[in-house]
Amino acid sequence: NAAEQRFIARNPKSKAIYEKATESLPGGNTRSVLFYEPFPLSITSANGATLHSADGHAYTDLLGEYTAGVYGHSDPVIAQAIIETTKKGLNFGSHHEDEGRLAGLIKQRFPSIELMRFTNSGTEANLMALAAAKIATGKKKIVVFANGYHGGTFLFAGGKSSSINVPHEYLIATYNDLESVYELIRKPENKENVAAIIVEPMMGSGGCIPADRRFLEGLRKAADESKAVLIYDEVMTSRSHSGGGIQSQLPMELRPDLTSLGKYIGGGMSFGAFGGKRSIMDIFDPRHPDSIKHAGTFNNNVLTMAAGRVGLEQVFTPYRAQQLHATGDKLRQRLQDIGRGTLMKVTGVGSIMGIHFTRTVLEDIKSHKDIVDSDATLSNLLHLFLLDRGFYIARRGFIALSLALTESDLDGFAKTVQDFVTEHRQIL
Ligand code: PLP
Repeated sequence: NAAEQRFIARNPKSKAIYEKATESLPGGNTRSVLFYEPFPLSITSANGATLHSADGHAYTDLLGEYTAGVYGHSDPVIAQAIIETTKKGLNFGSHHEDEGRLAGLIKQRFPSIELMRFTNSGTEANLMALAAAKIATGKKKIVVFANGYHGGTFLFAGGKSSSINVPHEYLIATYNDLESVYELIRKPENKENVAAIIVEPMMGSGGCIPADRRFLEGLRKAADESKAVLIYDEVMTSRSHSGGGIQSQLPMELRPDLTSLGKYIGGGMSFGAFGGKRSIMDIFDPRHPDSIKHAGTFNNNVLTMAAGRVGLEQVFTPYRAQQLHATGDKLRQRLQDIGRGTLMKVTGVGSIMGIHFTRTVLEDIKSHKDIVDSDATLSNLLHLFLLDRGFYIARRGFIALSLALTESDLDGFAKTVQDFVTEHRQIL
């Protein structure tokens, strides 16, 4: 089609770089989510909220590295911390002060996390959180939600698109449907065997679908009933509200036993963490002779610890988190208004959102069911349209705002989406 032809003509260098990579990477790719047809753009540098491509085009970055990029590109405070840290040596093979300091800052924001451990990614954090739940309960089965995503090895989308999941005994329930959870955990064969319920308080990869509050409250009761560990995967949503995640909106007694974190909390470096109740996390205390060994060469790497610490201390303060959340709510509202009466629908929480194209004009998207059947052709068209006008989002319509974006960036983006809707009105 014309939009794709134009994309190809505008980006010969990206095309060549991508084709070269196909010689040594399967499909030229090492992160499935970053591939799109006809080939992905090659980004060579970035600053603030701007990405620069190999072909010399500039893009306003609204993808925000799938939420890891909350600080924008090369935030001066974080960049300085990384440079200074690098000068002092990288691989100590030792304990160092920033570990405890970063952990302390995270604890302040997530009071349900009494003790935590660091990992290198959100995937690994979930791997460990599930292991901890199984050890703590002595049980095996894990309740997950269809279309949930907890990392490349925990993808419950079903069908052929599934990844290679870590083998657990999964019980797959329906998101925002408490009955489906009770049905599973009350089955005679499951009743005494559920180790954990793991949930994203907003389904991220599954389409930015927020959990109903009642659902979250009910999961707490369901976990208590089956003496299972309730795990919130806040890898994506930890930026919400004042930076204390979606759980910050719940009374303490309804919060999870364990939480997994990742993305921006490492200041833009590789990061993951899991933590929660002392009674569970104590199994990792190496002072106990029978403690569980949890290793990882880079768990406490000095760059992540330093970048993460200054980021939380000085940049993504609770106040700025709150502001970003409000900015996101406002933008989503505006995009929803633009889409009203068309096939375009916008979901999300705060600064994280997804633009979807449903097959019929729905009032609202309530569940993943409304999204599964969404129109990929229209998403592709919007993506190419936005790239052509200098806005970078994920092909599937995913957006995560950063602190570097200005009012005028967001205004320009909303106007461009409006132009798209106007120009494509006959097919929307
Ligand atoms: N959990 C959720 C909810 C996520 O969205 C992601 C990544 O997108 C992960 C876990 C995995 O994190 P990572 O990519 O750092 O392994």
